[in-house]
Amino acid sequence: LKPGNDSYDICIAGGGLAGLAASIQLARKGYAVVLVEKEKFPFHKVCGEYISLESKPFLKSLGIALDEMDLPHIDKLFLSAPNGTSLTTTLPLGGFGISRYRLDFLLAQKARESGVVLLEESRVTGMEEGEERLVHIQSKENTTTIRARVCCAASGKRSNLDVKWNRSFLQAWDRRLNNYVGIKYHVRTEWKENLIGLHNFKNGYCGISRIEDGKCCVCYMTRADNLKASGNDIRTMEKNLLRLNPHLERIFQSAEILQEFPVTISQISFAPKTQVEKGVLMLGDAAGMITPLCGNGMSMALHSSKIASGLIDQFLGGTISQKDLEQRYTADWKREFGRRLKTGRLLQKFFGDTRLSNALVQTFRVLPFLAKPLIRSTHGAPF
Ligand SMILES: Cc1cc2nc3c(=O)[nH]c(=O)nc-3n(C[C@H](O)[C@H](O)[C@H](O)COP(=O)(O)OP(=O)(O)OC[C@H]3O[C@@H](n4cnc5c(N)ncnc54)[C@H](O)[C@@H]3O)c2cc1C
Repeated sequence: LKPGNDSYDICIAGGGLAGLAASIQLARKGYAVVLVEKEKFPFHKVCGEYISLESKPFLKSLGIALDEMDLPHIDKLFLSAPNGTSLTTTLPLGGFGISRYRLDFLLAQKARESGVVLLEESRVTGMEEGEERLVHIQSKENTTTIRARVCCAASGKRSNLDVKWNRSFLQAWDRRLNNYVGIKYHVRTEWKENLIGLHNFKNGYCGISRIEDGKCCVCYMTRADNLKASGNDIRTMEKNLLRLNPHLERIFQSAEILQEFPVTISQISFAPKTQVEKGVLMLGDAAGMITPLCGNGMSMALHSSKIASGLIDQFLGGTISQKDLEQRYTADWKREFGRRLKTGRLLQKFFGDTRLSNALVQTFRVLPFLAKPLIRSTHGAPF
């Protein structure tokens, strides 16, 4: 099957890190790949923009020249509790900072160069079951249907496809895992290049670290109730809640917020998800979302694309059946990420509560050797 007509080997819904990385790997193996993204590159996305070093070799293998970009290397964590108690610790693996605006754009370029048919400003509205699957795509101009032998949904935290398929995580019983909002700014301010700050406040936390061109990313997440209680006004919520933490007060007072910000998202859920839905492989956040305080979601999204691409290659090569593809993807995904997600959910419960997060930071101050194993348990090895 060749691109340019309406039949493809693989169709991927969603051009974030997971979808873009999967499309590049599969196109390089010689398959006809179509990737559908509802936005137009480049664009901003809510994300703390700290990438764990575990995905650096993989990104380089996709052709992203990270070493030539003079990006900040981050190896220290500054953690503060809502009452301002704080500590600094060394990160076991560390990471680097790069904006999603730049990284996703670079990957989109690589995808095109690799022969991927990239449809921007187009939304997948359905992926029908069957040996040759029908995929419905809606753009501003028209609605089209294409055919694909394998379908992947890399559609992020929550998408129209999740609602259409009535996925079980949407009905999660534990409200503490559901309904968060995320808010991000790019700012100019004094902030050490090798440091990531994680500042807690009531029912939320805010990260700050450097990205490219001397800019900083300030990104926070909190329960939707917090925003509602502040009359759905972000500035009021920041004044009433975030800025009670003296470290956040200093940051918000001194930072120059850059144009186009804030960007926001809502309805974030950390409830467990399925890795295959109606025969479609779910990649990245669509398969399960780790709580952002772990700083590991992007690496997991990239890693899941690598697992899926290897198995899809075996399926299209005729070595495994559709059933094997689905079972092996689910098993490999759970083996690699299951434990991290559980630790992340547990940590989120601590940091979601003012009293507990004050106590946790105080404990790490007194027993600093406890912090590193905890951080390590939310991360994986380079892949
Ligand atoms: C507040 C916050 C802070 C975070 N900070 C960090 C951090 O510092 N470090 C880290 O590693 N991770 C962080 N994460 C997690 C990280 O952002 C995600 O894990 C990562 O973006 C997942 O990538 P993805 O490709 O799965 O999804 P996304 O990057 O969300 O991409 C999904 C794409 O699908 C598109 N889409 C959706 N539906 C459709 C459709 N039907 N048709 C076509 N396109 C569609 C969307 O437009 C989007 O571009 C953070 C998350 C949040 C919420």
